[in-house]
Amino acid sequence: MEDYKAHPNAFEPVSLSYFRNIWRTRFKNIKLRKHIRFSKCSTCERLRQIRWSRQSSIKERQKCQIDLLKHYADIKAERAYAASKRQLSMVHKTEVLSIALDGTDQLPRGLPQFRVTTSHDATSHERIKSKFTLLRIHNLEKTFCFEHLHNIKGDANLTIECLQRALKYTE
Ligand SMILES: [Zn+2]
Repeated sequence: MEDYKAHPNAFEPVSLSYFRNIWRTRFKNIKLRKHIRFSKCSTCERLRQIRWSRQSSIKERQKCQIDLLKHYADIKAERAYAASKRQLSMVHKTEVLSIALDGTDQLPRGLPQFRVTTSHDATSHERIKSKFTLLRIHNLEKTFCFEHLHNIKGDANLTIECLQRALKYTE
């Protein structure tokens, strides 16, 4: 890698099979995720699967390609709509309220998190595990972080609880 950085033109590109061979034999520990862990959308996933599957007919794949592009356009429009409301709430602070809210996955080792595995990460040192809900009130330009234990489900009740607390704050 260092050699390549120093002399980027000195090396011939390798074939795909050779690259795969090196990966398999020398870098077994490196794995690529099939999906990005967050922002997994079931519509995208379903359409992409048909789009790239060799089992699907050409007609099916073409249809999915069109549907995918439509779906991407919808997402773009949705995001633009959210962005416009966010802008509006920041200009008309007392008339328009804009709140964004999202939950995180459970941290696999609880808190605190370290970049490397420490002796405290062993199972004998089981820590309390928590999840977070992040909430942004755009009017106030303030972000809130709610921490909850792993036994509390990340469901609609939790969302409402966080929302209520945020609304109370804005009163
Ligand atoms: Zn999608």
